[in-house]
Amino acid sequence: MTEQNKDAALFSAQHSDADTKPCPRCDGQLRIKHIGQNSFWGCSNYPACDYTRSLQETSDFEPQPLPDAYCPECEHPLLLKKGRFGFFIGCSNFPKCDYIADPDAEEEQGALADCPQCGKGSLIERSNKYGKVFYPCDAYPKCRYALNDRPVAQTCPDCGWHVLVEKKSAAGVRLKCPQKSCSYSSEPL
Ligand SMILES: [Zn+2]
Ligand SMILES: [Zn+2]
Ligand SMILES: [Zn+2]
Ligand SMILES: [Zn+2]
Repeated sequence: MTEQNKDAALFSAQHSDADTKPCPRCDGQLRIKHIGQNSFWGCSNYPACDYTRSLQETSDFEPQPLPDAYCPECEHPLLLKKGRFGFFIGCSNFPKCDYIADPDAEEEQGALADCPQCGKGSLIERSNKYGKVFYPCDAYPKCRYALNDRPVAQTCPDCGWHVLVEKKSAAGVRLKCPQKSCSYSSEPL
């Protein structure tokens, strides 16, 4: 092999697609670099960009603890993690527990009704760490309105309160006014 061919072989090896990744900080490319015994990803725009990442790591995102979120399977705190396919919520007890929640799933469950108390937030479904479902205002902690029964976006015909709740009884599901001062209850649906 001539000197020139050797250079060409080295050059193409360094630039094959498998060995480069886009730099998350700039529009450079990450390449595997070697310093002594250590190999790591470094940016092609070095020294303008000094981004580096270890070879083993699949992401440079540190898992973030989620306040007041607990794994429904083992009750360990949940973490916001980043994987190959984007962000997800996983259990801090991983790999013992492989519970994963889709962060979008909670959003999609969505608002059940506008909050009648503050008029700005929405009532959403939540469960506490014991699995009990309740329906707080998503403007919490600014608004602490919460219902124990599933809200329905209807106005009370008696008092005009902007939400009714579903109450199951032997006769069927009735819509009731959650206001203590009001005794409205619909016929079984
Ligand atoms: Zn860079
Ligand atoms: Zn768990
Ligand atoms: Zn509210
Ligand atoms: Zn009412």
